[in-house]
Amino acid sequence: MDKIIIEARVNELAPRDENPNVPFSPEEIIADAKNCYDAGASIIHYHGRTATGEPEHDPAFYMETNSGIRAACPILIHPTLGYVAHGGDAKERFDAVEKSMEDPKTAPHFAPTDTGTVNVDWWNPEKNEYDTTNLVYENSTDTLIYFANRIRHHGLKHYCVSWNISFTRQMGALMKMGVIEAPVFVLLCMTDGISLSGHPGTKEGLDAHTTFLPKDQKVFWSAMNYKGNLFLLTEKVIKEGGHISIGLGDYPYCEFGQPTNADLIAKVVEQAKSLGREVATVDDTRKMLEMNSGAAAAA
Ligand code: ZN
Repeated sequence: MDKIIIEARVNELAPRDENPNVPFSPEEIIADAKNCYDAGASIIHYHGRTATGEPEHDPAFYMETNSGIRAACPILIHPTLGYVAHGGDAKERFDAVEKSMEDPKTAPHFAPTDTGTVNVDWWNPEKNEYDTTNLVYENSTDTLIYFANRIRHHGLKHYCVSWNISFTRQMGALMKMGVIEAPVFVLLCMTDGISLSGHPGTKEGLDAHTTFLPKDQKVFWSAMNYKGNLFLLTEKVIKEGGHISIGLGDYPYCEFGQPTNADLIAKVVEQAKSLGREVATVDDTRKMLEMNSGAAAAA
């Protein structure tokens, strides 16, 4: 079985009210990246945040954070393209990556492609109504092809995200077109609680995802649970050869007090080892995902 790739999803748009360890500033994200790397993560995913936690789209934030992470440790860098918080067109959403690619010191290693469109409104299970009603995470096919072409142009690694089976099918189509190249790393998105946008964070939700992965191409799948406790599924993921993407960005993990992102990574490492699965180093991850040319290969 492949070694397990562990990704730290450190902040997303998560608040600090339940767990104050969510990093916002470049300094905080850089420190978290190093701590997660030391704990066993080989990829870090982050979102730009202002001092008060609002989404920050300024390319300067990403350049400062990427260069700080690169100086601190060799963890592979996977920044957001702004998610639903970024209302710009494809070119504007990719702008922070374009600017970051002007200097190898500020370059990321991955850029994401969420291969479909989905409503991401917040559900209120206590009131049985929606708290928001107009949040559409929109990724037209034109946008996906634009991102994929720019990612290839820069020699970055595609990072696919599938919120449901239709995303996986569209990823398969883009692979058949040759705009996304195997081996592919795909994040299988599960959601719970106040988010109904992905598959449920259950055995059945995960099985439905993995059943429909492309069979004829090399695909590495990772599991996440946005707004739910991924540890309910980590044993299954580890045993089935999947990878783990976890962090305070998705869920505050107050079941364990107020853990840091690195505490969560350490917990995954311990469980993987106890189940006989070796943890992938950064070099292992590069080899598995064939990140051996272009910017993705640059240390
Ligand atoms: Zn994200």
